[in-house]
Amino acid sequence: MIQIPFTQLRSWQDELRDAITDPAELLSHLELSTDLLEAAIQADALFGLKVPRPYLARIEKGNPLDPLLLQVLPQHQETQPQPGYSEDPLAEQQANPLPGLIHKYTHRVLLVLSGACAINCRYCFRRHFAYQENQLGKQQWLQILNYLRQHPEVDEVIFSGGDPLATPDTRLQRMIQDLEQIPHLERLRIHTRLPVVIPSRITPTLLSALSSTRLQSLIVLHINHPNEIDDGVRQASRLITQQNIPLLNQSVLLKGINDSVSVQKTLSKTLFAAGILPYYLFLFDPVVGAAHFDLPEVQAKDLAAKLQAELPGYLMPRLAVEIPGKASKTLLIPTYDTRNHPE
Ligand code: SF4
Repeated sequence: MIQIPFTQLRSWQDELRDAITDPAELLSHLELSTDLLEAAIQADALFGLKVPRPYLARIEKGNPLDPLLLQVLPQHQETQPQPGYSEDPLAEQQANPLPGLIHKYTHRVLLVLSGACAINCRYCFRRHFAYQENQLGKQQWLQILNYLRQHPEVDEVIFSGGDPLATPDTRLQRMIQDLEQIPHLERLRIHTRLPVVIPSRITPTLLSALSSTRLQSLIVLHINHPNEIDDGVRQASRLITQQNIPLLNQSVLLKGINDSVSVQKTLSKTLFAAGILPYYLFLFDPVVGAAHFDLPEVQAKDLAAKLQAELPGYLMPRLAVEIPGKASKTLLIPTYDTRNHPE
């Protein structure tokens, strides 16, 4: 039996239930001005506030520009018109042949296990996703298994969401057991932010399900700023890697949050020290309601070029963008912005 030293922590289900969803409570807890409240209430009506307390504890009190706060605080910009931004920036509706299944790339499919998240990130490209129409009941699950049997070119399944780890362990176990019966499936990938914001989500049952399946499993976390990595996250990461489950990170380049060389450099080094390999650094996906996080591609490439000069290759995340309809993610070459470097 896998031992977990989280017994002093509350269960992840209790943490989920106890997450802050009231803007007034958030501002009061963080000793922030009530001037922010009216806008927060308006933006909250468009996409609800949700912050679990283990994440809240990493936000600096009294600092309205805290980089973790800015990822979760509903703000007035979200309610402004944003021409050119889309509710479905990655055109996922066109790659959604069955409820709960997105098939964008030939050899892998993405399963939307849950519409729920432990935290609502304001920049989320799925903030308008049709979760209602993608619910996975028993019937839909059988349809998905059938689809996978009929697509021998698919060798990898990605559990996504929402957050797939919002799904109870017993259900995850059953799903994994069903998937491993399909001979051409080789790998199971989990994209999740839950162990970052509620580290006690890493349970013995989950680890056992992932380490005992014949499928090669790997976990991709979503961490955008080094301040998100505390002792709980380090502990959760250690438990995962102790099971020989590869642990990667993808982040999103967000204006005002992690768009500096120093933050990105610290992020890569802190991830690595916690046993997590930097994998992707994505350009912001142009979702309506989150335009204030957008950073021009030329600036992203310039930042990546400077970062590359500071880090060994294995700590350098791949700068990438998802372009709807392309056969894979598009890697961007880090290049200096010649407007800033005229020589
Ligand atoms: S945890 Fe992931 S899916 Fe959920 S709101 Fe944040 S970015 Fe979106």
